[in-house]
Amino acid sequence: DLASWQEALRAQFPIVMANPDVRYLDSSATAQKPQVVLDAVQDYLRTCNANAGRGTYPWGNRTTALIEEARTRVKTFLRDPEPDRSHVHFTSGTTEGLRTVARDWLVDWLTDGDEIIVPFADHQANALPWLEAVELLGRQGTRVIVKEMPYEADSHDYDQQALADLVSERTKFVAATHVHHVYGADMNVHRIRTTVGPDAVICLDAAQSVGHKPADMSRLDVDFAVFSGHKSLALPGIGAIWARGARGPAFRAGGWSGSPNTSGIVSLHAALDWLEAADLERIERWTVGLGVQLTDGLDRLSSYEVLGCPLSLSADSTVQRRQGIVTFRHSAISSNDLGFILASHGLLVRADGHCQARAGERDSSVRASVHVYNTPQDIDHLLDVLASLDRES
Ligand code: PMP
Repeated sequence: DLASWQEALRAQFPIVMANPDVRYLDSSATAQKPQVVLDAVQDYLRTCNANAGRGTYPWGNRTTALIEEARTRVKTFLRDPEPDRSHVHFTSGTTEGLRTVARDWLVDWLTDGDEIIVPFADHQANALPWLEAVELLGRQGTRVIVKEMPYEADSHDYDQQALADLVSERTKFVAATHVHHVYGADMNVHRIRTTVGPDAVICLDAAQSVGHKPADMSRLDVDFAVFSGHKSLALPGIGAIWARGARGPAFRAGGWSGSPNTSGIVSLHAALDWLEAADLERIERWTVGLGVQLTDGLDRLSSYEVLGCPLSLSADSTVQRRQGIVTFRHSAISSNDLGFILASHGLLVRADGHCQARAGERDSSVRASVHVYNTPQDIDHLLDVLASLDRES
């Protein structure tokens, strides 16, 4: 059953097992690592560490091969519909990945009078690079029109009707986010292609989905997907851009022009293997379940407001509205103070403005986010402490 499956997985996270009094609830910021990821990095560094792409000796050749294998692994992990034509470019993470798409590709793709659509209520890493690219083009005399991705008020999903009204034959590029990093909403990005038509290039910020739930590019029908290794159980400092080959973007940033983050790439390969063996659909079911437990618990406490869609499931129960990310505020205690109080109980959450792009949405709040190593007891403990503050205030 699901509980014994989870127990076996949880036991593979050394930092979790070594700290029974700590409840790590900040996996949207960065995730913990299973033993196999640590082992893979050690094995690599102890057996064949060398620079890649220029080897005349076995360690260099092995390193180059490991990197190519990891590239292929990213493609299979993402259910790449066209692996022979697509590209995987390793970056330091999502922020650098999105910026690289903007600087190395978007500036060449856009021409005078083109339009792009930007999600200003998402993470700033998925807004600022596009604005910078437009500004750069503007300085060269190329005028690009920026339109705001529209949202539905209560679900916080993208508003497909309003999006359809925004799209014109000049819409060349649409940026979107797979799972919202504050509201936890699954943004139903598979709907975007139908709305915007076949010609616009869609770039997906998959920072909060890869490693947490299935991320199937053949189903989502996007042209770019960008994610961070450190949120997907791999080391910090590694991430990837996946660029679909056929329809759209010829994207070949970098090549072998610099020294790659070989140990990061090895860690990413190991993490993706682990996640797939663990079963991403089950991981999603588990983490969504913990999110439901937390939103249901908060619903019974009068002092707390949950941001975004208050419920974990939409009326259309086939659509999971909320992943294992729940952000809330207390009516009287500042989020900063609440973060410190929770930490004193071993509950590690994030309390700040969460890097949202639009200023009005950057007011501080508390975010609890889970991964497969979290348990219902973690959520119970969090709710107990939150309930004690509910009565006192
Ligand atoms: N996009 C989203 C949706 C995120 O949640 C984050 C991380 N908080 C980023 C982008 C940036 O990721 P990184 O810090 O790994 O570059």
